[in-house]
Amino acid sequence: MLRHTLIALSHSSRAQRFVTGFGPARRVARRFVAGETRQEALDAIRKLNDMGMLVTVDFLGEHVEERGAALANVQEYQEVLADITANALKSGISLKLSAMGLHVDKEFCYENVRQIVAVAKREGRFVRIDMEESALVDVTLELYRRLRAEFDNVGAVIQAYLHRSRDDVAALIEEGAADLRLVKGAYDEPAEIAWQDRDAIRHELIELCKMMLAADARRRGARLALGSHDDAVYNVVARYAAQQGVDPASWEIQFLYGIRRDEQRRLVRAGHRMRIYVPYGHSWYPYFMRRLAERPANLLFFLRALAGE
Ligand SMILES: Cc1cc2nc3c(=O)[nH]c(=O)nc-3n(C[C@H](O)[C@H](O)[C@H](O)COP(=O)(O)OP(=O)(O)OC[C@H]3O[C@@H](n4cnc5c(N)ncnc54)[C@H](O)[C@@H]3O)c2cc1C
Repeated sequence: MLRHTLIALSHSSRAQRFVTGFGPARRVARRFVAGETRQEALDAIRKLNDMGMLVTVDFLGEHVEERGAALANVQEYQEVLADITANALKSGISLKLSAMGLHVDKEFCYENVRQIVAVAKREGRFVRIDMEESALVDVTLELYRRLRAEFDNVGAVIQAYLHRSRDDVAALIEEGAADLRLVKGAYDEPAEIAWQDRDAIRHELIELCKMMLAADARRRGARLALGSHDDAVYNVVARYAAQQGVDPASWEIQFLYGIRRDEQRRLVRAGHRMRIYVPYGHSWYPYFMRRLAERPANLLFFLRALAGE
């Protein structure tokens, strides 16, 4: 119930004005967002790299409705790619199609992303296309497949809570296009299309990871990035990978910035390839609300800050 409410609030412009204009809320958001400026993001990437972690950096902003706003996002991604290279940082980028103009026009969006992937290719960087709400899954996978036919430095995300995901992962493995981050899924989806039960979602996520780590999938070029902070998932997957003799350098665990920092360091010490998703920018509100929805303890922390504790 609380989760549904928070995800619904993530779309509310009134709630957005209230939260983003409120000092204590901004301070709590800073726990999950590297900063509002590119320089703050670059500083955060440097610190994480120094601790042995790789990064994927996200310029926040989604559901853009105007060409100009989408083009400004494209420009920002090109500049952050240039800065990553100039500073010799170990980071790729993550982007959302709705920030690239998907709601303006599909081909406009495709050309925008293609331009970014081409620049990233020249810079030797990887581009991950985040997955958004279920209405965008087909078009996201369609544009991903088109990009993948031309570039090898682009990957997608599959959400374990969707009933369709086993078929999507199987098809992408078969096509040799399975460079995938697997996650539970962060949006509010109905029971007709998505598992609702936490254990069922966890089970699905583990099964999808096993599909990606199977010897035949790896022969077809499948590359797994597991995006989860859930030890009941990544411990099982890590054990399975070791049993299958999978090279630990060939798959990775990804965490979101600011979440379970001690565990991030422990996983690096244990020899895992670890990547942190670092978001930055002014448009942090929907991202922040999804993080609150994932964990009631975060909401309590937020409410205490609001109460001035
Ligand atoms: C790198 C990365 C990229 C992602 N990309 C996408 C995407 O493209 N599309 C999409 O739909 N979803 C994405 N997600 C979000 C994902 O779908 C889940 O909503 C999110 O990861 C929470 O699920 P969990 O697997 O971490 O398990 P949970 O059961 O939610 O968490 C397990 C444990 O992790 C800790 N934890 C989890 N979340 C938080 C939090 N917010 N704050 C503090 N502690 C927490 C808690 O200790 C909790 O007990 C991404 C997640 C990661 C890590």
